[in-house]
Amino acid sequence: MAVKILIPTALRQFADGRAELHAEASTAGEVLEQLVGEYAELRRHLYNERGELRNFVNVYVNDEDIRHAARLATPVKDGDTISIVPAIAGGAGEANEAVVADGRTSAVGALPGLTNEEIARYSRHLILPEVGVEGQRRLKAARVLMIGTGGLGAPLGMYLAAAGVGTLGLVDFDVVDASNLQRQIIHGTRDVGRPKIESARDRLSDINPNVKIETYETRLTSENALELFRDYDVIADGTDNFPTRYLVNDACVLAGKPNVYGSIFRFEGQASVFWGARGACYRCLYPEPPPPGLVPSCAEGGVLGVLPGIVGAIQANEAIKIILGADGVLLNRLLLFDAWGMRFRELRLRKDPACPVCGENPTVRELIDYEEFCGLRAQPSQDAGESPATDFEEITAARLERRIEAGDALQIIDVREPHEYEIARIPGAHLIPLAQVVERAGEIDEDRETVVHCKGGVRSARAIEALRRAGFRGRLINLRGGITAWSDEVDPSVPKY
Ligand code: ZN
Repeated sequence: MAVKILIPTALRQFADGRAELHAEASTAGEVLEQLVGEYAELRRHLYNERGELRNFVNVYVNDEDIRHAARLATPVKDGDTISIVPAIAGGAGEANEAVVADGRTSAVGALPGLTNEEIARYSRHLILPEVGVEGQRRLKAARVLMIGTGGLGAPLGMYLAAAGVGTLGLVDFDVVDASNLQRQIIHGTRDVGRPKIESARDRLSDINPNVKIETYETRLTSENALELFRDYDVIADGTDNFPTRYLVNDACVLAGKPNVYGSIFRFEGQASVFWGARGACYRCLYPEPPPPGLVPSCAEGGVLGVLPGIVGAIQANEAIKIILGADGVLLNRLLLFDAWGMRFRELRLRKDPACPVCGENPTVRELIDYEEFCGLRAQPSQDAGESPATDFEEITAARLERRIEAGDALQIIDVREPHEYEIARIPGAHLIPLAQVVERAGEIDEDRETVVHCKGGVRSARAIEALRRAGFRGRLINLRGGITAWSDEVDPSVPKY
Protein backbone atom coordinates (compact mmCIF):
# COMPACT_ATOMS: atom_id res chain seq x y z
CA MET A 1 0.00 0.00 0.00
CA ALA A 2 1.05 3.56 -0.67
CA VAL A 3 -0.37 6.89 -1.77
CA LYS A 4 -1.74 6.84 -5.31
CA ILE A 5 -1.12 9.86 -7.57
CA LEU A 6 -3.41 10.35 -10.57
CA ILE A 7 -1.69 12.16 -13.44
CA PRO A 8 -4.06 14.08 -15.79
CA THR A 9 -3.81 13.51 -19.54
CA ALA A 10 -2.26 16.92 -20.22
CA LEU A 11 0.73 16.19 -17.95
CA ARG A 12 1.32 12.52 -18.76
CA GLN A 13 3.79 13.40 -21.50
CA PHE A 14 6.07 14.65 -18.71
CA ALA A 15 5.70 11.43 -16.66
CA ASP A 16 6.63 8.77 -19.23
CA GLY A 17 2.98 8.54 -20.27
CA ARG A 18 1.94 7.14 -16.87
CA ALA A 19 -1.62 7.73 -15.65
CA GLU A 20 -1.02 6.54 -12.12
CA LEU A 21 2.04 6.58 -9.86
CA HIS A 22 2.69 5.59 -6.27
CA ALA A 23 4.69 7.17 -3.49
CA GLU A 24 5.49 6.50 0.15
CA ALA A 25 5.26 9.73 2.11
CA SER A 26 3.59 11.30 5.10
CA THR A 27 2.43 14.64 3.64
CA ALA A 28 0.98 15.77 0.34
CA GLY A 29 3.95 18.10 -0.16
CA GLU A 30 6.40 15.18 0.17
CA VAL A 31 4.45 13.17 -2.38
CA LEU A 32 4.65 16.02 -4.90
CA GLU A 33 8.38 16.49 -4.18
CA GLN A 34 9.00 12.81 -4.92
CA LEU A 35 6.99 13.17 -8.11
CA VAL A 36 8.94 16.16 -9.44
CA GLY A 37 12.17 14.56 -8.22
CA GLU A 38 11.47 11.59 -10.45
CA TYR A 39 10.02 13.58 -13.37
CA ALA A 40 11.89 16.88 -13.48
CA GLU A 41 9.83 18.30 -16.39
CA LEU A 42 6.74 18.24 -14.19
CA ARG A 43 8.21 20.74 -11.76
CA ARG A 44 7.59 23.83 -13.87
CA HIS A 45 4.06 22.70 -14.59
CA LEU A 46 3.20 22.29 -10.92
CA TYR A 47 5.21 25.02 -9.18
CA ASN A 48 6.04 28.65 -9.92
CA GLU A 49 9.53 30.17 -9.41
CA ARG A 50 8.73 30.77 -5.75
CA GLY A 51 8.07 27.09 -5.22
CA GLU A 52 4.31 27.59 -4.75
CA LEU A 53 1.71 25.47 -6.45
CA ARG A 54 0.48 27.13 -9.60
CA ASN A 55 -2.95 28.74 -9.69
CA PHE A 56 -4.15 26.82 -12.72
CA VAL A 57 -3.27 23.46 -11.19
CA ASN A 58 -5.34 22.14 -8.31
CA VAL A 59 -4.22 19.33 -6.05
CA TYR A 60 -6.67 17.19 -4.14
CA VAL A 61 -6.13 14.62 -1.41
CA ASN A 62 -9.07 12.28 -1.90
CA ASP A 63 -11.81 14.85 -2.60
CA GLU A 64 -10.33 17.78 -0.64
CA ASP A 65 -8.63 20.73 -2.34
CA ILE A 66 -5.21 21.36 -0.76
CA ARG A 67 -4.00 23.96 -3.23
CA HIS A 68 -3.04 26.62 -0.70
CA ALA A 69 0.61 26.33 0.19
CA ALA A 70 0.06 25.93 3.92
CA ARG A 71 -1.89 22.82 3.20
CA LEU A 72 0.95 21.00 1.47
CA ALA A 73 1.57 19.77 5.02
CA THR A 74 -1.72 17.86 4.77
CA PRO A 75 -0.94 14.38 6.11
CA VAL A 76 -1.49 11.44 3.80
CA LYS A 77 -1.77 7.76 4.59
CA ASP A 78 -1.73 4.46 2.76
CA GLY A 79 -4.62 4.15 0.37
CA ASP A 80 -5.12 7.91 -0.12
CA THR A 81 -5.42 9.25 -3.65
CA ILE A 82 -3.80 12.49 -4.76
CA SER A 83 -5.34 14.02 -7.89
CA ILE A 84 -3.72 16.74 -9.97
CA VAL A 85 -6.42 18.68 -11.83
CA PRO A 86 -5.19 21.31 -14.31
CA ALA A 87 -7.43 23.74 -16.18
CA ILE A 88 -8.52 22.48 -19.60
CA ALA A 89 -10.17 24.75 -22.14
CA GLY A 90 -11.74 22.57 -24.85
CA GLY A 91 -14.86 21.75 -25.85
CA ALA A 92 -18.92 26.84 -25.06
CA GLY A 93 -28.93 40.58 -13.00
CA GLU A 94 -30.92 38.00 -11.29
CA ALA A 95 -32.15 34.81 -12.78
CA ASN A 96 -35.58 34.99 -14.34
CA GLU A 97 -37.70 34.52 -11.26
CA ALA A 98 -40.60 33.11 -13.22
CA VAL A 99 -38.49 30.15 -14.26
CA VAL A 100 -35.28 29.57 -12.42
CA ALA A 101 -34.04 30.53 -8.97
CA ASP A 102 -36.29 28.66 -6.61
CA GLY A 103 -38.49 27.83 -9.52
CA ARG A 104 -41.10 26.06 -7.44
CA THR A 105 -42.01 29.18 -5.50
CA SER A 106 -43.00 31.22 -8.54
CA ALA A 107 -46.55 31.54 -9.77
CA VAL A 108 -47.53 28.56 -11.85
CA GLY A 109 -50.25 30.63 -13.47
CA ALA A 110 -47.61 32.76 -15.22
CA LEU A 111 -46.24 29.75 -17.09
CA PRO A 112 -47.36 28.96 -20.64
CA GLY A 113 -49.79 26.07 -21.15
CA LEU A 114 -49.17 22.93 -23.20
CA THR A 115 -50.95 22.06 -26.45
CA ASN A 116 -52.24 18.55 -27.10
CA GLU A 117 -49.36 18.00 -29.50
CA GLU A 118 -46.91 18.98 -26.72
CA ILE A 119 -48.65 16.71 -24.21
CA ALA A 120 -48.17 13.77 -26.59
CA ARG A 121 -44.56 14.73 -27.36
CA TYR A 122 -43.49 15.14 -23.72
CA SER A 123 -45.53 12.29 -22.24
CA ARG A 124 -42.46 10.50 -20.81
CA HIS A 125 -41.63 13.69 -18.90
CA LEU A 126 -45.21 14.34 -17.83
CA ILE A 127 -45.51 10.98 -16.06
CA LEU A 128 -42.35 11.67 -14.02
CA PRO A 129 -43.51 13.30 -10.78
CA GLU A 130 -40.23 15.28 -10.71
CA VAL A 131 -41.17 16.98 -14.00
CA GLY A 132 -44.92 16.68 -14.51
CA VAL A 133 -47.06 19.25 -16.31
CA GLU A 134 -45.76 22.09 -14.17
CA GLY A 135 -42.12 21.19 -14.85
CA GLN A 136 -42.80 20.87 -18.56
CA ARG A 137 -44.39 24.32 -18.52
CA ARG A 138 -41.28 25.65 -16.76
CA LEU A 139 -39.13 24.14 -19.51
CA LYS A 140 -41.35 25.79 -22.11
CA ALA A 141 -40.95 29.17 -20.43
CA ALA A 142 -37.18 28.79 -20.06
CA ARG A 143 -34.50 30.52 -22.13
CA VAL A 144 -31.05 28.92 -22.39
CA LEU A 145 -28.11 30.59 -24.14
CA MET A 146 -25.53 28.22 -25.60
CA ILE A 147 -22.04 29.58 -26.21
CA GLY A 148 -20.72 27.47 -29.08
CA THR A 149 -22.43 24.88 -31.27
CA GLY A 150 -19.47 22.50 -31.51
CA GLY A 151 -18.63 19.27 -29.72
CA LEU A 152 -20.31 20.16 -26.41
CA GLY A 153 -23.02 22.35 -27.93
CA ALA A 154 -24.19 19.55 -30.24
CA PRO A 155 -25.62 17.12 -27.65
CA LEU A 156 -26.45 20.00 -25.33
CA GLY A 157 -28.63 21.74 -27.90
CA MET A 158 -30.18 18.56 -29.21
CA TYR A 159 -31.25 17.34 -25.76
CA LEU A 160 -32.48 20.76 -24.65
CA ALA A 161 -34.55 21.06 -27.84
CA ALA A 162 -35.90 17.54 -27.46
CA ALA A 163 -36.77 18.23 -23.81
CA GLY A 164 -38.87 21.23 -24.82
CA VAL A 165 -36.80 24.15 -23.55
CA GLY A 166 -38.86 26.99 -25.05
CA THR A 167 -36.09 29.27 -26.30
CA LEU A 168 -32.52 28.39 -27.23
CA GLY A 169 -30.00 31.12 -28.05
CA LEU A 170 -27.01 30.07 -30.16
CA VAL A 171 -23.77 32.05 -30.25
CA ASP A 172 -21.18 30.93 -32.80
CA PHE A 173 -19.29 32.53 -35.68
CA ASP A 174 -17.61 29.40 -37.01
CA VAL A 175 -18.24 27.47 -40.21
CA VAL A 176 -18.72 23.68 -40.35
CA ASP A 177 -15.46 21.95 -41.32
CA ALA A 178 -15.03 18.29 -42.33
CA SER A 179 -12.86 17.72 -39.25
CA ASN A 180 -15.81 18.71 -36.99
CA LEU A 181 -18.02 15.81 -38.05
CA GLN A 182 -16.20 13.19 -35.92
CA ARG A 183 -17.90 14.66 -32.82
CA GLN A 184 -20.16 17.63 -33.62
CA ILE A 185 -23.20 15.50 -34.39
CA ILE A 186 -25.55 18.46 -34.73
CA HIS A 187 -23.92 19.09 -38.15
CA GLY A 188 -23.98 16.73 -41.15
CA THR A 189 -21.78 16.10 -44.16
CA ARG A 190 -23.96 18.32 -46.37
CA ASP A 191 -23.46 21.21 -43.91
CA VAL A 192 -19.70 21.48 -44.49
CA GLY A 193 -19.00 25.10 -45.39
CA ARG A 194 -22.22 26.46 -43.81
CA PRO A 195 -22.24 28.73 -40.75
CA LYS A 196 -22.63 26.50 -37.69
CA ILE A 197 -25.55 28.47 -36.27
CA GLU A 198 -27.54 27.91 -39.49
CA SER A 199 -26.81 24.21 -39.57
CA ALA A 200 -27.56 23.90 -35.83
CA ARG A 201 -30.81 25.86 -36.17
CA ASP A 202 -32.04 23.53 -38.93
CA ARG A 203 -31.24 20.41 -36.92
CA LEU A 204 -32.77 21.71 -33.68
CA SER A 205 -35.94 22.87 -35.45
CA ASP A 206 -36.26 19.42 -36.99
CA ILE A 207 -35.94 17.76 -33.57
CA ASN A 208 -38.58 20.07 -32.08
CA PRO A 209 -40.36 22.76 -34.11
CA ASN A 210 -41.91 24.13 -30.91
CA VAL A 211 -38.55 25.51 -29.80
CA LYS A 212 -37.79 29.11 -30.66
CA ILE A 213 -34.19 29.45 -31.87
CA GLU A 214 -32.42 32.80 -31.57
CA THR A 215 -29.08 32.99 -33.40
CA TYR A 216 -26.14 35.32 -32.88
CA GLU A 217 -23.48 34.91 -35.55
CA THR A 218 -20.84 36.72 -33.61
CA ARG A 219 -17.88 36.22 -31.34
CA LEU A 220 -18.79 36.59 -27.67
CA THR A 221 -16.92 39.67 -26.40
CA SER A 222 -16.65 41.82 -23.31
CA GLU A 223 -18.74 44.39 -25.22
CA ASN A 224 -21.72 42.15 -26.02
CA ALA A 225 -21.74 39.44 -23.31
CA LEU A 226 -23.77 41.18 -20.58
CA GLU A 227 -26.38 42.39 -23.02
CA LEU A 228 -26.70 38.91 -24.56
CA PHE A 229 -26.89 37.16 -21.18
CA ARG A 230 -29.51 39.52 -19.77
CA ASP A 231 -32.48 37.89 -21.45
CA TYR A 232 -31.56 34.29 -20.65
CA ASP A 233 -32.07 32.18 -17.54
CA VAL A 234 -29.19 29.74 -17.93
CA ILE A 235 -25.88 30.08 -19.79
CA ALA A 236 -24.19 26.91 -21.06
CA ASP A 237 -20.51 27.24 -21.83
CA GLY A 238 -19.44 24.97 -24.69
CA THR A 239 -16.40 26.97 -25.79
CA ASP A 240 -12.89 25.76 -26.41
CA ASN A 241 -10.53 28.48 -25.23
CA PHE A 242 -9.52 30.12 -21.97
CA PRO A 243 -10.34 33.78 -22.76
CA THR A 244 -13.97 32.87 -23.51
CA ARG A 245 -14.18 30.61 -20.44
CA TYR A 246 -13.19 33.49 -18.13
CA LEU A 247 -15.42 35.91 -20.04
CA VAL A 248 -18.45 33.60 -19.69
CA ASN A 249 -17.70 33.06 -16.00
CA ASP A 250 -17.30 36.73 -15.14
CA ALA A 251 -20.33 37.80 -17.19
CA CYS A 252 -22.43 35.10 -15.47
CA VAL A 253 -21.34 36.25 -12.02
CA LEU A 254 -21.98 39.92 -12.86
CA ALA A 255 -25.37 39.09 -14.39
CA GLY A 256 -26.30 36.63 -11.63
CA LYS A 257 -26.79 33.72 -14.05
CA PRO A 258 -25.88 30.06 -13.57
CA ASN A 259 -23.01 28.89 -15.82
CA VAL A 260 -23.34 25.25 -16.85
CA TYR A 261 -19.74 24.34 -17.55
CA GLY A 262 -18.16 21.50 -19.51
CA SER A 263 -14.69 21.05 -20.95
CA ILE A 264 -12.82 18.28 -22.70
CA PHE A 265 -9.30 17.21 -23.64
CA ARG A 266 -8.34 13.94 -25.31
CA PHE A 267 -10.12 11.40 -23.04
CA GLU A 268 -10.79 13.64 -20.08
CA GLY A 269 -13.82 15.75 -19.30
CA GLN A 270 -14.83 18.18 -16.56
CA ALA A 271 -18.32 19.43 -15.71
CA SER A 272 -19.77 21.68 -13.04
CA VAL A 273 -22.37 24.37 -12.41
CA PHE A 274 -20.75 27.67 -11.48
CA TRP A 275 -23.19 30.06 -9.89
CA GLY A 276 -21.64 32.94 -7.95
CA ALA A 277 -24.90 33.67 -6.14
CA ARG A 278 -25.02 30.16 -4.70
CA GLY A 279 -21.49 28.81 -4.66
CA ALA A 280 -18.15 28.63 -6.37
CA CYS A 281 -17.42 30.15 -9.76
CA TYR A 282 -14.78 29.12 -12.31
CA ARG A 283 -12.32 31.64 -10.84
CA CYS A 284 -12.76 30.13 -7.38
CA LEU A 285 -11.50 26.91 -8.98
CA TYR A 286 -8.88 28.42 -11.31
CA PRO A 287 -8.01 32.02 -10.36
CA GLU A 288 -5.61 32.34 -13.28
CA PRO A 289 -5.34 30.78 -16.71
CA PRO A 290 -2.31 28.71 -17.71
CA PRO A 291 0.26 30.54 -19.82
CA PRO A 292 -0.51 30.33 -23.54
CA GLY A 293 0.78 27.18 -25.19
CA LEU A 294 1.18 25.18 -21.97
CA VAL A 295 -2.13 23.36 -22.30
CA PRO A 296 -2.67 22.20 -25.87
CA SER A 297 -6.04 22.74 -27.55
CA CYS A 298 -8.16 19.85 -28.85
CA ALA A 299 -6.98 20.78 -32.37
CA GLU A 300 -3.41 20.16 -31.22
CA GLY A 301 -3.95 17.39 -28.65
CA GLY A 302 -6.90 15.53 -30.16
CA VAL A 303 -10.17 14.45 -28.56
CA LEU A 304 -12.13 11.20 -28.58
CA GLY A 305 -15.32 11.95 -30.53
CA VAL A 306 -17.72 10.47 -27.98
CA LEU A 307 -16.27 12.46 -25.06
CA PRO A 308 -17.97 15.81 -25.80
CA GLY A 309 -21.17 13.82 -26.40
CA ILE A 310 -21.08 12.57 -22.82
CA VAL A 311 -19.95 15.84 -21.23
CA GLY A 312 -22.41 17.93 -23.30
CA ALA A 313 -25.25 15.58 -22.29
CA ILE A 314 -24.28 16.12 -18.64
CA GLN A 315 -24.52 19.88 -19.24
CA ALA A 316 -28.01 19.41 -20.74
CA ASN A 317 -28.99 17.34 -17.71
CA GLU A 318 -27.87 20.06 -15.29
CA ALA A 319 -29.47 22.90 -17.30
CA ILE A 320 -32.79 21.05 -17.20
CA LYS A 321 -32.47 20.44 -13.45
CA ILE A 322 -31.75 24.12 -12.81
CA ILE A 323 -34.89 25.05 -14.76
CA LEU A 324 -36.95 22.50 -12.81
CA GLY A 325 -35.58 23.75 -9.47
CA ALA A 326 -34.25 20.26 -8.73
CA ASP A 327 -32.06 19.34 -5.80
CA GLY A 328 -28.73 17.76 -6.57
CA VAL A 329 -27.53 20.26 -9.16
CA LEU A 330 -23.76 19.99 -9.76
CA LEU A 331 -23.06 23.08 -7.61
CA ASN A 332 -19.80 23.25 -5.62
CA ARG A 333 -18.76 19.96 -7.17
CA LEU A 334 -16.37 19.28 -10.03
CA LEU A 335 -17.14 16.11 -11.95
CA LEU A 336 -14.16 14.49 -13.64
CA PHE A 337 -14.68 11.90 -16.34
CA ASP A 338 -11.99 9.62 -17.77
CA ALA A 339 -13.42 8.09 -20.93
CA TRP A 340 -10.47 5.73 -21.45
CA GLY A 341 -10.44 4.27 -17.95
CA MET A 342 -14.27 4.71 -17.83
CA ARG A 343 -14.28 6.33 -14.44
CA PHE A 344 -16.22 9.21 -12.96
CA ARG A 345 -14.85 11.04 -9.93
CA GLU A 346 -16.13 14.00 -8.02
CA LEU A 347 -14.23 16.70 -6.16
CA ARG A 348 -15.62 19.23 -3.74
CA LEU A 349 -15.38 22.92 -4.61
CA ARG A 350 -15.52 25.78 -2.19
CA LYS A 351 -16.47 29.35 -2.85
CA ASP A 352 -13.28 31.36 -2.36
CA PRO A 353 -14.02 34.40 -0.13
CA ALA A 354 -11.05 36.09 -1.84
CA CYS A 355 -12.32 35.33 -5.36
CA PRO A 356 -11.76 38.48 -7.47
CA VAL A 357 -15.18 38.23 -9.09
CA CYS A 358 -17.61 36.43 -6.73
CA GLY A 359 -15.77 36.93 -3.41
CA GLU A 360 -16.45 39.27 -0.52
CA ASN A 361 -14.52 42.21 -1.95
CA PRO A 362 -14.59 41.69 -5.70
CA THR A 363 -12.03 43.59 -7.77
CA VAL A 364 -13.56 42.59 -11.11
CA ARG A 365 -16.71 44.72 -11.33
CA GLU A 366 -16.94 44.92 -15.09
CA LEU A 367 -15.75 42.78 -17.97
CA ILE A 368 -12.08 43.10 -18.83
CA ASP A 369 -9.86 42.26 -21.81
CA TYR A 370 -9.74 38.45 -21.57
CA GLU A 371 -7.23 37.96 -24.39
CA GLU A 372 -4.82 40.08 -22.40
CA PHE A 373 -5.76 38.35 -19.13
CA CYS A 374 -4.86 35.02 -20.74
CA GLY A 375 -1.56 36.41 -22.05
CA LEU A 376 -2.59 36.18 -25.68
CA ARG A 377 -1.63 39.76 -26.48
CA ALA A 378 1.72 38.87 -25.09
CA GLN A 379 4.37 41.46 -24.75
CA PRO A 380 7.76 39.75 -24.63
CA SER A 381 7.35 37.65 -21.52
CA GLN A 382 9.00 38.66 -18.26
CA ASP A 383 9.00 35.05 -17.34
CA ALA A 384 10.91 33.44 -20.15
CA GLY A 385 10.52 29.99 -18.68
CA GLU A 386 6.78 30.04 -19.14
CA SER A 387 5.55 30.72 -22.62
CA PRO A 388 7.17 29.83 -25.89
CA ALA A 389 9.82 32.35 -26.82
CA THR A 390 8.71 34.89 -29.37
CA ASP A 391 12.12 36.00 -30.59
CA PHE A 392 13.01 32.96 -32.66
CA GLU A 393 13.42 32.83 -36.39
CA GLU A 394 10.50 31.61 -38.49
CA ILE A 395 10.14 30.40 -42.07
CA THR A 396 7.04 29.97 -44.23
CA ALA A 397 6.27 26.63 -45.86
CA ALA A 398 6.63 28.13 -49.36
CA ARG A 399 10.04 29.58 -48.54
CA LEU A 400 11.17 26.31 -46.98
CA GLU A 401 10.26 24.46 -50.15
CA ARG A 402 12.23 26.96 -52.28
CA ARG A 403 15.27 26.49 -50.07
CA ILE A 404 15.01 22.70 -50.30
CA GLU A 405 14.65 22.96 -54.11
CA ALA A 406 17.73 25.19 -54.18
CA GLY A 407 19.68 22.41 -52.48
CA ASP A 408 20.26 24.14 -49.12
CA ALA A 409 21.61 21.69 -46.56
CA LEU A 410 18.72 22.13 -44.13
CA GLN A 411 17.67 19.45 -41.71
CA ILE A 412 14.00 19.18 -40.74
CA ILE A 413 12.98 17.96 -37.30
CA ASP A 414 9.37 16.90 -36.78
CA VAL A 415 8.38 17.11 -33.10
CA ARG A 416 4.91 15.59 -33.43
CA GLU A 417 3.91 12.16 -32.14
CA PRO A 418 4.59 8.96 -34.13
CA HIS A 419 0.87 8.43 -34.85
CA GLU A 420 0.71 11.90 -36.41
CA TYR A 421 3.79 11.12 -38.51
CA GLU A 422 1.86 8.10 -39.80
CA ILE A 423 -0.94 10.38 -41.03
CA ALA A 424 1.18 12.92 -42.88
CA ARG A 425 4.83 13.93 -43.12
CA ILE A 426 7.17 16.35 -44.84
CA PRO A 427 9.69 14.43 -46.99
CA GLY A 428 13.06 14.04 -45.31
CA ALA A 429 11.87 15.13 -41.86
CA HIS A 430 13.36 13.33 -38.86
CA LEU A 431 10.86 12.51 -36.12
CA ILE A 432 11.71 13.35 -32.49
CA PRO A 433 8.54 13.85 -30.39
CA LEU A 434 8.51 17.04 -28.29
CA ALA A 435 8.79 15.21 -24.98
CA GLN A 436 12.06 13.56 -26.12
CA VAL A 437 13.62 16.47 -27.96
CA VAL A 438 16.06 17.47 -25.22
CA GLU A 439 17.36 13.99 -24.41
CA ARG A 440 17.68 13.17 -28.13
CA ALA A 441 19.26 16.51 -29.08
CA GLY A 442 22.38 14.55 -30.08
CA GLU A 443 20.48 13.41 -33.18
CA ILE A 444 20.34 17.03 -34.40
CA ASP A 445 23.46 18.33 -36.16
CA GLU A 446 24.38 21.66 -34.52
CA ASP A 447 26.39 22.70 -37.58
CA ARG A 448 23.42 22.65 -39.94
CA GLU A 449 20.47 24.99 -40.07
CA THR A 450 17.51 23.20 -38.51
CA VAL A 451 13.85 23.76 -39.32
CA VAL A 452 11.58 22.45 -36.57
CA HIS A 453 7.94 21.71 -37.31
CA CYS A 454 4.80 20.25 -35.75
CA LYS A 455 1.14 20.36 -36.79
CA GLY A 456 0.46 24.08 -36.39
CA GLY A 457 3.64 25.69 -35.07
CA VAL A 458 3.02 25.73 -31.30
CA ARG A 459 4.81 22.57 -30.20
CA SER A 460 7.75 23.33 -32.50
CA ALA A 461 8.12 26.72 -30.79
CA ARG A 462 8.19 24.95 -27.43
CA ALA A 463 10.77 22.49 -28.77
CA ILE A 464 13.04 25.35 -29.89
CA GLU A 465 12.68 26.95 -26.49
CA ALA A 466 13.45 23.69 -24.68
CA LEU A 467 16.51 23.01 -26.86
CA ARG A 468 17.86 26.50 -26.24
CA ARG A 469 17.34 26.18 -22.51
CA ALA A 470 19.23 22.90 -22.64
CA GLY A 471 22.18 24.67 -24.28
CA PHE A 472 21.72 23.63 -27.93
CA ARG A 473 23.90 25.99 -29.98
CA GLY A 474 22.76 25.35 -33.57
CA ARG A 475 20.50 27.64 -35.60
CA LEU A 476 16.85 26.69 -35.04
CA ILE A 477 14.02 27.94 -37.27
CA ASN A 478 10.32 27.42 -36.62
CA LEU A 479 8.08 26.37 -39.53
CA ARG A 480 5.20 28.83 -39.31
CA GLY A 481 1.85 27.04 -39.41
CA GLY A 482 3.52 23.61 -39.28
CA ILE A 483 2.65 20.76 -41.64
CA THR A 484 -0.83 22.27 -42.08
CA ALA A 485 0.75 25.26 -43.81
CA TRP A 486 2.92 22.86 -45.86
CA SER A 487 -0.26 21.16 -47.08
CA ASP A 488 -1.92 24.52 -47.84
CA GLU A 489 1.01 26.25 -49.51
CA VAL A 490 3.25 23.55 -50.96
CA ASP A 491 1.77 20.07 -51.34
CA PRO A 492 -2.02 19.57 -51.12
CA SER A 493 -1.49 15.81 -51.40
CA VAL A 494 -0.24 15.87 -47.79
CA PRO A 495 -3.47 15.23 -45.84
CA LYS A 496 -4.63 17.76 -43.26
CA TYR A 497 -5.87 16.34 -39.98
ZN1 ZN B 1 -15.50 32.89 -7.58
